[in-house]
Amino acid sequence: MKIRPALLHLFFLILSAQASAESIYCDQCGNRIKEGASYIISESKIYCDHECYEKSLPKCAVCGDPVKAGYVSEGKNYCSEKCLSTTWESCSLCGKKVNKGVHLGSKNGMFYCSDCAEKPICSGCGLPNDCFVLPDGRNICSKCQSSAVTSLRGSTEIIREVRKIMKEELDIFTDHEIKYRLVDKNELKKLSGQSEMELGLFQHEEWKNTEIITKKKLGIKIGEEKNIIMSDSFTIFILTSLPAEKFSDIAAHELAHDWLERYYPNIRDKVIIEGWAEYAASLVNSFFGREYLNEQKKYNEHPVYGNGYRILSKIAEKGGKGKVIEFLKEKNSEE
Ligand SMILES: [Zn+2]
Ligand SMILES: [Zn+2]
Ligand SMILES: [Zn+2]
Ligand SMILES: [Zn+2]
Ligand SMILES: [Zn+2]
Repeated sequence: MKIRPALLHLFFLILSAQASAESIYCDQCGNRIKEGASYIISESKIYCDHECYEKSLPKCAVCGDPVKAGYVSEGKNYCSEKCLSTTWESCSLCGKKVNKGVHLGSKNGMFYCSDCAEKPICSGCGLPNDCFVLPDGRNICSKCQSSAVTSLRGSTEIIREVRKIMKEELDIFTDHEIKYRLVDKNELKKLSGQSEMELGLFQHEEWKNTEIITKKKLGIKIGEEKNIIMSDSFTIFILTSLPAEKFSDIAAHELAHDWLERYYPNIRDKVIIEGWAEYAASLVNSFFGREYLNEQKKYNEHPVYGNGYRILSKIAEKGGKGKVIEFLKEKNSEE
């Protein structure tokens, strides 16, 4: 927003009409100015009196008073800073109305005054705030802290609920026996081998066991048989101390990985893999009415997570989840 003080109307001249051949007229009311009477000149226009002069002035867009010295912002006039400030945005955190600040993420993102924008970023909601520091070094705001998932029991309850909804409402499920673990930032980093801030991880391990069966007849060994047994283990790791709603979002994301690996295991493109997990999680968020979490996905600038989500939700716009699954099927047979 550009604001310039409007000082143009501040100065005017008061003159006295001289006896002359030519008559002068008020530019506002059109009346002739009598000889010897005083009149006003402002911006090369003539006014018979103060009332006419004030009538000619622009009106304050907020209170309607004539603007003598005030402000012009986006083509509108304001009589005072008080009136102008009513048009300013309120900081999402401290509520102060300020004319300068930061929109987070995008032009339509949440607005913060410059003081609040400087505060540490909460690892739960991704927004600046006064934060506590968790033992693993992450910042967390008091709002996120109040619903933080810190016990295995609490986390398992949420994951089970999410899994049930994905199965019953979205038809996204496997019969895998999945173990759940809560880990801190350092453990998760080690497990995922990624330097980026990960919030969860789906791990599928395959074990190959060789079993030797000795065949005997009447107590005498007559041969050996090799039996290869494949066994799977599935684990979902999720970061501890996430706010409950974010935790549910991450749980849905990781469960979607399990589903994708089970049904379309040939897809190797990270953008599609993460895009699917984000898209499936967004369906769960919508089910719970937590669209704000999907807004974060929509504006996520990450080249894999953000782009992947945008690609798949664009496909979904045209034909819903069915179209997305068709797309995955196609990708799976290509690769
Ligand atoms: Zn007049
Ligand atoms: Zn005003
Ligand atoms: Zn603020
Ligand atoms: Zn937070
Ligand atoms: Zn993922």
